[in-house]
Amino acid sequence: MIEVRVKDRVGEKIKGFFPWIYNLEILEIKGKPKPGDFVKVLDSKKKVLGYGYINPNTKIAVRLLSFDEKEEISKELVKQRLLSALEYRKRLNINSNAFRLIHSEGDFLPGLIVDVFDQYVVMEITTYGMVKMKNWVLESLVELLKPKGIYQKVSDYAMNIEGFEEEEKILYGTVPEVIKIWEGDLEFYVDVVKGQKTGFYLDQRKARKMIRDLVKPGDVCLDLFCHTGGFALNMIKKGAKKVIAVDMSERALNLGKENAKLNGLEGIEWVEENAFHFLRKLAKEGSEFDVIVIDPPSFARTKAHVENALRGYKELCVRALKIVKPGGYIAIYSCSFHITREHLFEVILQASRDVKRAVRIVGESFQDLDHPWILQMPNTLYLKGVYLEVFR
Ligand code: SAH
Repeated sequence: MIEVRVKDRVGEKIKGFFPWIYNLEILEIKGKPKPGDFVKVLDSKKKVLGYGYINPNTKIAVRLLSFDEKEEISKELVKQRLLSALEYRKRLNINSNAFRLIHSEGDFLPGLIVDVFDQYVVMEITTYGMVKMKNWVLESLVELLKPKGIYQKVSDYAMNIEGFEEEEKILYGTVPEVIKIWEGDLEFYVDVVKGQKTGFYLDQRKARKMIRDLVKPGDVCLDLFCHTGGFALNMIKKGAKKVIAVDMSERALNLGKENAKLNGLEGIEWVEENAFHFLRKLAKEGSEFDVIVIDPPSFARTKAHVENALRGYKELCVRALKIVKPGGYIAIYSCSFHITREHLFEVILQASRDVKRAVRIVGESFQDLDHPWILQMPNTLYLKGVYLEVFR
């Protein structure tokens, strides 16, 4: 097996269970590694630190799966990881038949995302090394979950960086284009094949519950960046009189409408528009809302985009503050690691001064617990939400 010896400082990080080794942190490589090859990782004094896979063509050269000299990478290891991930999800007592089973580094399987939707599995591979383990993952998923089908999604972004090619396709059994799931007392269609990401934003499950708790019967609500209506349906189910749900994607909105029908819910007005423009229109019309949800896509994929992203957040926040009733609520989310909760606080503070409305923070949420994060890698905690009440 190829051996990678790392500099002292890095060895210490790995002993603290940090799973990445950057190119520049390598002292010596024994052997000629190809992308995705398994490697043994050693410290400068040649003590074994663990095992991982390498991609000589990327900035992150090695990702570790194991931090134990006796735990080499094998099908058995992958199966063990999947099994313990499943046992953990069972403990969570998730009130749904859809959950994230593998959250990449958060489940010690870097490069792998696995979502379970009822009897079906959707997986996405984001590294070359994981491509090499794909069959082990597949076989283990079949053994452990006995699913009706497994579908593979791909990320062009990841494939470009890593230099591998995979297709979106059924890997096992049969998978319908749209899968029906339930969460709490609601049902949702999930657009696995043509939808965004793996089809449904499982990470916002906790936030949906918090919004459900905030809304009172009779409220008028706004769900910005609504996708297929995760928040909107919860608002109307709680008894909101009316919800305006806004998204730019016609496909997402159509499924949102189907979702409302599926649950026999009326009172959601679905609007296909740019949320920024629509907010301006609402202010001009003098509309007012009790609860406003702002759940935009990642405006900042890299650090370089932070400034622009913050401008976007500020605009959303200012415009929302102008149309929320006294005593009303705004929930604002960031799904980008680079936009932190402190950023959100700062944006809210500035917006509250600009609009001259006093606000107080009444809650926070993070990605739900089936998306565990590890402290060694702050970017595994990517989703945060801040809930504020407009005092007057
Ligand atoms: N709240 C959703 C998830 C939102 S994901 C849920 O809980 O399911 C972000 C959504 O924003 C996507 O559906 C995307 O189509 C939409 N979107 C992106 N830019 C937009 C814009 N400028 N205006 C309106 N919608 C936008």
